Amino acid sequence: MNDRKGAPASAHYADHHRQSIADPESYWTEQARQVAWYRAPQQALQSMPDGTHRWFADGQLNSCYLALDHPIELGRGEQLALIYDSPVADCKSSYTFNQLRDEVARLAGLLRKLGVEKGDGVIIYMPMIPQAAMAMLACARIGAMHSVVFGGFAPHELALRIDDLKPKLLLTASCGLEFERIIPYKPLVDKALELTTFKPDHVLLWQRPQSLAHMHGPRDLDWETALDGVEPVEPVPVSSLDPLYILYTSGTTGKPKGIVRENGGHAVAMLYTMRQVYGMCAGEIWWGVSDVGWVVGHTLIVYAPLMAGCTTVFYEGKPIRTPDAGAYWRIIEEYRVNALFCAPTAMRAIRKEDPRGQLLEGRDLSSIRQLFLAGEKLDSSTHQWLEMLTGKPVLDHWWQTETGWPVTAPCLGLEGHEPAPGSSNRAVPGFAVRVMDEEGHLLGPGEPGSIVITLPLPPGCSQTLWGDHSRFLQAYLQTFPGYYNTGDGGYIDDNGFVYIMGRTDDVINVSGHRLSTGEMEDLVGQHPAVAESAVIGVHDEIKGQVPLALVVLNDGVEEGAGQVQRELIALVRERIGALACFNRVVVVKRLPKTRSGKTLRAVLRKIADGEAYTTPATIDDPAILQEIATALG
Ligand code: AMP
Repeated sequence: MNDRKGAPASAHYADHHRQSIADPESYWTEQARQVAWYRAPQQALQSMPDGTHRWFADGQLNSCYLALDHPIELGRGEQLALIYDSPVADCKSSYTFNQLRDEVARLAGLLRKLGVEKGDGVIIYMPMIPQAAMAMLACARIGAMHSVVFGGFAPHELALRIDDLKPKLLLTASCGLEFERIIPYKPLVDKALELTTFKPDHVLLWQRPQSLAHMHGPRDLDWETALDGVEPVEPVPVSSLDPLYILYTSGTTGKPKGIVRENGGHAVAMLYTMRQVYGMCAGEIWWGVSDVGWVVGHTLIVYAPLMAGCTTVFYEGKPIRTPDAGAYWRIIEEYRVNALFCAPTAMRAIRKEDPRGQLLEGRDLSSIRQLFLAGEKLDSSTHQWLEMLTGKPVLDHWWQTETGWPVTAPCLGLEGHEPAPGSSNRAVPGFAVRVMDEEGHLLGPGEPGSIVITLPLPPGCSQTLWGDHSRFLQAYLQTFPGYYNTGDGGYIDDNGFVYIMGRTDDVINVSGHRLSTGEMEDLVGQHPAVAESAVIGVHDEIKGQVPLALVVLNDGVEEGAGQVQRELIALVRERIGALACFNRVVVVKRLPKTRSGKTLRAVLRKIADGEAYTTPATIDDPAILQEIATALG
């Protein structure tokens, strides 16, 4: 049952965008009618004195009900809700909306039995298995907040998040699977719980046959055994402003930011984005290629497709080597995928292994309409290659964990959305995107600067950080009063197309994963042999960016430089995880500084990337730049 005949695309993009900015309150009141509220909100928008906003404050709803029970009420019970495909576990399975709702309702009953109540936090540290999505939805069903921590994070990172959220319960699985490697998760969880001051009551663990975990005392519970005899529970109404989830993302310091997503605005945004941005209709097959540990996993693997009545493909595998660079084409053909989302890095990896697309030959890609790419810069060479190979439109769009849904994109559900290749396309309705110089003056077309969004942000965007509202104000709202500072730099052309050039802060993007160079620098600085260091992001052909550490050693330790380099690499791997790809440490005699003592990172990045640079006027000693260039070879 596919509703394509009633597809959106009836109104013009420009009209929608204009209305959404001129009168956000009426625009979003209208959009909010799409949501099956328990109590419809009477007031859409409230402005707070500190510059933040509240959407639909008096509304009541339940996000799990909207994702499962409501589509069932609309007749989708026997439609597939989730298709699990795991080349690494050699396993395929699927769940209808009825089946998924039943699984989730029982798991929600178990969470409640274990003492989780409305408003409590739950950490989910799991691989890409359907139980991860069930865990998220089960939390939502009883009004608990989930916080999914990406399985690639090391115990130290998991511990930071546990201590910040103080969860009642931690859900995990016995292992993750990567290519031919088995990664036992339980020892990582045990290690994290040794590091934390806060201890959750229980660890609920899903045993995978590839590696069974050892359980400890009454704290650890076996998921399947614990479910025995548990009764399903119904969704509970929560307030629009109650958090649905907390998702930690890297900021510029070692302490991750707990992005808070409220139920009400999120639901409105999810339905809007699936229909108006991605042009999807109920009954269609959607594939968000990511991991539940990232915002894309929340928005585009779980909540938006299910709330919109689509089938979501849940893939536990890689673009290459599981078993080959044709994996994506197989999935599209096998499940008749209608549209997908992935990060450019995945396509670059496929291109490297199969540049001529031999693995695509003979595959039927006729079901797919578009490929949406985001998470990092889409280089034009990959863009053109992918479009030529597939014969399908490749659409770049831009968003962040904080916004939770696309800020700029071609809006396929609206007319007049034609994309401009090379750009991340135009602002989605609700977002007034502008560019500013350092002094806070708005810049004109083509002029590069900081990308900002005029307040209010539309529904669904975070309005606070978990337990640290003042950090939210300081990080996002205070630099340019009246605007949200995205932390990205770029420009907008005469026709309103937005070009993202990269971060303006110390955040880098490795394979679409956002990481803090400040955090790595902190760790490097903790080594007793290191006098000072700078960690910067440098260009990488496949991963987009990778970190590079320049370190100045203390006098007298030069002899052991090789050993120090190895220790630093091991340290970052242990504390942050292999996902940081921290493999390059270069010893230098000194770092280039301004006269006021600030490290000149921008020029370091240029030297490392082999780009032309001008010697900054503020530099203390220009000779250093040549030394660095020589050290970097
Ligand atoms: P995350 O919060 O992990 O999703 O990372 C968000 C950041 O990724 C943004 O602030 C950008 O720096 C980058 N990003 C996301 N999408 C794009 C895109 N289409 N083009 C360039 N950079 C992007």
